Amino acid sequence: MKVLVINCGSSSIKYQLFEMSNESVIAKGLAEKIGLSEGCIDLKITGTEKKIEVTLPLPNHSVALNKVMELMTDNGVIKDKSEIKAIGHRLVHAGEYYNGSVPITDDVIARLVECSDLAPLHNPPNILGVKTCLELFPGTFMSGTFDTAYHQTMPDYSYMYPISYEYYDKYKVRRYGFHGSSHYFVAERAIELLGKKREDTKIITCHLGNGCSIAAVKGGKSLDTSMGLTPLEGIVMGTRSGDVDPGIIFYLAEKHNGDLKAVNNMLNKNSGLKGVSGVSNDMRDVRAARDAGNKKAELALNIFKYRLKKYIGSYAAAMGGVDAIVFTGGIGENVWEVREDSLKGLEFMGIEMNTELDKTVFSKEAVISTPASKVKVFVIPTNEELVIARDAKRLYEKK
Ligand code: ADP
Repeated sequence: MKVLVINCGSSSIKYQLFEMSNESVIAKGLAEKIGLSEGCIDLKITGTEKKIEVTLPLPNHSVALNKVMELMTDNGVIKDKSEIKAIGHRLVHAGEYYNGSVPITDDVIARLVECSDLAPLHNPPNILGVKTCLELFPGTFMSGTFDTAYHQTMPDYSYMYPISYEYYDKYKVRRYGFHGSSHYFVAERAIELLGKKREDTKIITCHLGNGCSIAAVKGGKSLDTSMGLTPLEGIVMGTRSGDVDPGIIFYLAEKHNGDLKAVNNMLNKNSGLKGVSGVSNDMRDVRAARDAGNKKAELALNIFKYRLKKYIGSYAAAMGGVDAIVFTGGIGENVWEVREDSLKGLEFMGIEMNTELDKTVFSKEAVISTPASKVKVFVIPTNEELVIARDAKRLYEKK
């Protein structure tokens, strides 16, 4: 059974085509610069060296997705789009509506619209992606997997903010959490690797990519996570600040003549690694600058690691212990110094790293703690697309 996974952004569509009999990726790629005068699409076909790239005007998502399908048929990936039995959409914000993946219906679309003001950058393009597929694949089964769904197991004392209760009643202001499919995927794998009963497991999952979040997963369920009402809260990210004193917002708004948009922009787009280093939001560039003697780049890295360590400690406290810490995402899977330094000094918690081995681990699964370490430390490459494809298959078979 072939399943197409779609992740639709405002000017891009990421796609992967799976053969679910062996959960393999047949082809994948990206259509980008949609809406601009010159767009581009790439297509990588598994098992071939061939990478197809075309540049052409992509006035809208519908043209882009049509072209993706044309490239797939022209290059022999599929004979016809009717071979695709199900489409799984990566969707971001479902508020409190869904705690798992769901078949796409008019109701689901209405709820995505309703939650758009909670995720204004993500939900509108997600809706567009769903509508585009409904148009291009009439009658094909579709499901949606939400970033927020996995964290719906958080208890109220974990998801509620200590502000006036009326804002929860009126506007549903609370912690939702994001990167749910990634935390789920790596936590499930960690449970397997631990070989313990899932009810007894206490796992901290660190998703460190462009956006970064960390979760406390107790008994296989999300107990807490660092991103909140929006993906701005929590640990340091590429361009986002993570936690700051909310007083800074009002102080700076005054300095900017009340311009809250400027402050919002600064916190979301010009903070984190980029804001402190003044170099880049990309971890590779920041490390290279630090190695070349740039002190602000060094500071950005130090803040990143220090704050990550504080969250790891607090989540161990929240769960009353920890069995495993998992690193994933572009940084988590590739940057040994972040893994090593964020755990340095936590030996009192029973963490003992195999630092030599850790330095050799890039984008592959590994145990980077010593055999004697009470807490296991894992690198587990994430696979959000596979989670979405599995859910699409499961829901298709249930329909
Ligand atoms: P996204 O969150 O957009 O999916 P990724 O998970 O790819 O992004 O993470 C992007 C981050 O990971 C960037 O800061 C990038 O520098 C870092 N990264 C990715 N690959 C490597 C690598 N091989 N070495 C060092 N850093 C890497």
